[in-house]
Amino acid sequence: MSTNNLSRRDFLSLGSSSSLLLSAVMTGCKNKEITFGIITDLHYADKESTGSRIYRDSGEKLRECIETITPLKPAFLIELGDFIDAADKEAELGFLRNINSIFREFEGGCHHVIGNHDVATFTKDEFVRLIGMRGNYYSFDRDAFHFIVLDANYNRDFSDYNAGNFDWTETYIPPHEQEWLKRDLAHSKRKTAIVFIHQVLHDEGDPHGVKNAVEVRRILEDAGNVAAVFQGHDHSGGYMEINGIHYITLRAAVEGPGLENNSFAVVFLSSDGTMLVEGYKRQESYELKLKRSRE
Ligand SMILES: [Zn+2]
Repeated sequence: MSTNNLSRRDFLSLGSSSSLLLSAVMTGCKNKEITFGIITDLHYADKESTGSRIYRDSGEKLRECIETITPLKPAFLIELGDFIDAADKEAELGFLRNINSIFREFEGGCHHVIGNHDVATFTKDEFVRLIGMRGNYYSFDRDAFHFIVLDANYNRDFSDYNAGNFDWTETYIPPHEQEWLKRDLAHSKRKTAIVFIHQVLHDEGDPHGVKNAVEVRRILEDAGNVAAVFQGHDHSGGYMEINGIHYITLRAAVEGPGLENNSFAVVFLSSDGTMLVEGYKRQESYELKLKRSRE
């Protein structure tokens, strides 16, 4: 297994003006491409902060994300889980209503990934229904690309995380979801696929890691067209490449007070095989060459 843990300086250095220029160049090129917005770990709740998690500021952070990315006309906005933080059920219903009404101000596709905190009080079925997801895992096509939303909120016995019945460090993708993933990738006609997940797939030894990630990475590698995996959960964020697939962990938006600590990204994906992850505020930027695609 070839594993590269790249440091920031290994990437093309992207100052804010050069990244804007690069975005303009990529938007103007005639290759088929797509732009989407991405944010993770808002943990929105109307409750006192704990440590560096400033729950109440996440509504304004999401609003700033939407206002910033809208002029770039992203096809969709996706949040990678832990949309809300825990309280009693009635309070959480209010948090979900508030943060989701801000999310729906985005004038494009809206996608969600389930995070462990989303099912601390709600059952998984309740959360999926309340948020209007088409399922706890699913896929969709946009332009030349295939996108997959995974759910790793399963216990060691492959039962669903439901209403707090779990240990957050024990996270699995069960056999039935792995079978679905294999079939979904095999049937996709798109030459490039991108995966979204809350917990991280690049390190099963980390507390944030999916414990059977080795099996899942093998499915992604065998498919041949999975170019990148976007993940959250590990609030500091990071990047790793394993066997030609980019694993990008976005920094958590809940971390730190005020909009100066906001964190989100716009992804410019081009069928010429490049991907620019343009980070805003505290989010790192990455310019990556996509190494895997199906002809
Ligand atoms: Zn989180």
